[in-house]
Amino acid sequence: MFLGILTHMAESAGRELIHVNPANTSRTCPPSMGGCGHVSGDDRVTQAGFVCVRCGFTANADVVGAINVLRAGLVLRETAQAA
Ligand SMILES: [Zn+2]
Repeated sequence: MFLGILTHMAESAGRELIHVNPANTSRTCPPSMGGCGHVSGDDRVTQAGFVCVRCGFTANADVVGAINVLRAGLVLRETAQAA
């Protein structure tokens, strides 16, 4: 229901909606931000802070989650277009 409305809204606005599984998106050291791609539950030192235990990359945890969701979405779209 909700995704149906959201998809319709996105198409009406000429936008594309991609469904992304958010698993690990806030626990992955973001390669697109210069991180190493390491995934660990230990990377979340606080609710707002992200610190990679492997390479020491630090950033706002919400930014890291958003960047990783975007990257996952773009990968899904590339996979769909290649098929
Ligand atoms: Zn890292």
